[in-house]
Amino acid sequence: MEHAAVLVTIGNELLSGLTVDTNSAFLARGLASIGLKVRMKLSAADSIPEIVHALHLAEQQGTVILLSGGLGPTSDDCTKPALAERYGRPLIFYPHVMEAVQAHFRRLGRTMPEINRNQALLPERSTLLPNAFGTAWGIWIEEGGKHIIALPGVPFELKPMFTEQVLPRLQQKLPPSPLLSRTLHIFGMGESAIAERIADIERSLPPAISLAYLPHYSVVRLRLTGSSPDADALRNQMHEAEQNLLHRLGDAVFGFDDTSLEAELGKALRAAGKSIAVAESCTGGALAARIVSVAGASDYFPGSIVAYANEVKQHLLDVPADLIGQYGAVSEAVVQAMLNGLLQRIPADYGAAISGIAGPDGGTAEKPVGTVWIATGSRANRQARRFQFRGNRNDVIEYAVMNALGLLLQQVRAGS
Ligand code: ATP
Repeated sequence: MEHAAVLVTIGNELLSGLTVDTNSAFLARGLASIGLKVRMKLSAADSIPEIVHALHLAEQQGTVILLSGGLGPTSDDCTKPALAERYGRPLIFYPHVMEAVQAHFRRLGRTMPEINRNQALLPERSTLLPNAFGTAWGIWIEEGGKHIIALPGVPFELKPMFTEQVLPRLQQKLPPSPLLSRTLHIFGMGESAIAERIADIERSLPPAISLAYLPHYSVVRLRLTGSSPDADALRNQMHEAEQNLLHRLGDAVFGFDDTSLEAELGKALRAAGKSIAVAESCTGGALAARIVSVAGASDYFPGSIVAYANEVKQHLLDVPADLIGQYGAVSEAVVQAMLNGLLQRIPADYGAAISGIAGPDGGTAEKPVGTVWIATGSRANRQARRFQFRGNRNDVIEYAVMNALGLLLQQVRAGS
């Protein structure tokens, strides 16, 4: 049977929704990177019987069972007693773990609370994984061909332990069948429009390849995943599927794998030796923040103007007051004037200007919440578009930022 993993996250706060389970997404991505699929995810309460029950279920589905959380010293931390019970490995005292925990407190300049002696009580016959950032050591139990691995719940403790200690060892112990993946990033087409356009390609994908739609605001990622013992055949099939999709979707595909609109915009500007500035009203600097999230943005981003109030639009972007009076701040005339003023004030090759109603208040029948005007372009060639976005305030801001980035990318790539 193909190896597969099951994730078991532990904690009442995960079940109540007080903590969002980000650990399992992190673990699943890491496992995929070594060709291990996650077949099931479970969340169990802080209770020994619940965790033992989850382990029973997990054992039926996976060779690798990865637990997170519940390794702390307090009575509500039940992972260790559950492992002890399920795998018949009583908790014993490990002096070298005790020393490491004491050293941890010494480094922090604190005396160790007595309760932390419990951190040195761990199941016998297990491999113990040191914790460089906390007191809960990881536990690796091998039982009946299965690997049961318990990691601390705190993300900054779990992540290095998993990446540095668990993944390399798993790779050694379980030679995987090849898993390939390729992600196409699409801007300017919604999920259903894409699905319609590629329906026949999707239907004729070979069984070894699956396709997932991952929409995020105005970008849809299409992920091809292939798994087969025949690596060469799989590589060819993946290549063919990708080519078919590219042929069908054309320029809507703006990048591959780990990328983003802002990263691609940066690459396009750098390749063309051009620069960009932005003027923002309703996004309040979110577009500029996105542009500078790309390392090296100083090569092509001289700066931005956040002009939230009408007076600032007038004073810093030279938008005529009567234009605002006549058309309103959220209008084609005003975003065009913002862009004009911007490119006068900041000498850049391209610019974008955004003005809209992010809500929840401020909408009218004519311009409801979510109405956003975006002007983009160069001195020679400008366009302005009206959008009607859905969602709450943050959603409207995010949509506006992504659309401005997408429109800019199209223009810079077209050299217009
Ligand atoms: P430690 O002893 O180092 O605190 P632990 O294994 O006892 O580790 P938990 O008590 O289960 O960890 O969780 C500690 C905190 O870690 C939680 O309050 C929560 O903030 C975070 N956490 C736990 N599980 C997850 C998860 N699946 N995703 C994201 N964060 C988590």
